[in-house]
Amino acid sequence: MTIATTNPATGEVERTFDPLPEPEIDRRVGRAADAFRSYRRTGMDERARWMNAAADILDAERDRAAALLTREMGKTITAARAEAAKCAAACRYYAEHAAGFLADRPADAEAVGAARAYVRYQPLGPVLAVMPWNFPLWQVIRFAAPGLMAGNAGLLKHASNVPQTALFLEELFRRAGFPEGVFQTLLIGSGQVERVLRDPRVRAVTLTGGEPAGRSVASVAADELKPSVLELGGSDPFVVTASADVPRAAEAAATSRCLNNGQSCISAKRFIVVEDVADEFEQAFVERMRALTVGDPMDESTDVGPLVSEQGRSDVEDLVADAVKQGATVLCGGARPPGKGWYYPPTVVAGVTPDMRMYHEEVFGPVASLFRVRDLDEAIDLANAIGFGLGSNAWTDDPRERERLVDDMEAGQVFINGTTTSYPQLPFGGVKRSGYGRELSREGARAFCNVKTVWIG
Ligand code: NAP
Repeated sequence: MTIATTNPATGEVERTFDPLPEPEIDRRVGRAADAFRSYRRTGMDERARWMNAAADILDAERDRAAALLTREMGKTITAARAEAAKCAAACRYYAEHAAGFLADRPADAEAVGAARAYVRYQPLGPVLAVMPWNFPLWQVIRFAAPGLMAGNAGLLKHASNVPQTALFLEELFRRAGFPEGVFQTLLIGSGQVERVLRDPRVRAVTLTGGEPAGRSVASVAADELKPSVLELGGSDPFVVTASADVPRAAEAAATSRCLNNGQSCISAKRFIVVEDVADEFEQAFVERMRALTVGDPMDESTDVGPLVSEQGRSDVEDLVADAVKQGATVLCGGARPPGKGWYYPPTVVAGVTPDMRMYHEEVFGPVASLFRVRDLDEAIDLANAIGFGLGSNAWTDDPRERERLVDDMEAGQVFINGTTTSYPQLPFGGVKRSGYGRELSREGARAFCNVKTVWIG
């Protein structure tokens, strides 16, 4: 894949970049290792000052950053501004809370025959972060804010289609005051990731992306015995029971499915509705999907912009065509509009069955699968029937149903009467083929730490 900015709204290549030559990659990895040696000795207050400065820059330059995101990957300008604001808030959150998350944890010294015993959280070293294009600022900040506060150095290999955002991030941390080399961008293709990960100076890896990338990086990490965190794809269920507030659920369903032009790992993608309320939900959901405005992502009134690439759109079209060929029904959308840009309309597909690809695979575009089930048991079975286990959503006003859903959904998170969202305050991650490890919150702050046991006699 060439490293380039290609505007999804026009299909035009706006800028291309040469990948870093091997000696330069080597020099940068060396710089990260050197920087780490002194950076790990900096105090939490100092790191927090730099992290707060990064937040201030993100706030002051929100419009510039947002325009970059929209031009490189097509999200609406409103969503891009919100992403930049969320990143600033996350930087401030870790500036404030990292010291608490990473403070020495006292242990029962007497029980282990020591005068003193405790646990100390120490940074591992340079961490390679392989990141996707869909939330090009947030995915990186989600690793970097807790990771740098913990004292690690970051080496970012961003997706090849968001190089200017990748460079903006490197500049952001440098301008915020972090020492040279603590956070660097490597403009490299995916073929160079193995080489960087096998470098003994790189101590761990985090990857957010699709399954093939996850498998490849995880197997190299395993071979090198390096810790890894994987945030992979999802096809989140959205269960609506008979006790649900159906109009609210339908509204949230359309918003969730079309979030980020339908390209979010935690968008609800499979809508599983109990028979009693299925007609009412279907009508309201289809109405709301139809009402969304598709168009120029720079226009403030647009709800759904283009998909990221020509390939991205044809992948979505192939999944819909496969379902229709085997008997599914398109209730709205389902055909690309004429003209330039990689647009695809909000689409609802009913009658999806296990022999269709859409049943099992993640649709990375604004396409919903709608299922009708007899009762809650069937809904949970269907929700858990596929390989993914990232987020999950359910709508119910019945406390017993709620407890059942909280217990039985096979997912890294369950949101009742709301839609899966990532918050700095809550851990984030998946089970099954959606990956392993956790980002955010206390768990995220400790993800790249040596949990060192200290025993003093
Ligand atoms: P992707 O193709 O897997 O790419 C993600 C990153 O991995 C990019 O930097 C890519 O580099 C790199 N990469 C690809 N193949 C690789 C390989 N074999 N070895 C090493 N690195 C490799 O995913 P994407 O299209 O950018 O993002 C969409 C996917 O990410 C979806 O499945 C989505 O659900 C998932 N996602 C998950 C989360 C989560 O938190 N769980 C969040 C967001 C997105 P190049 O660009 O150079 O190919």
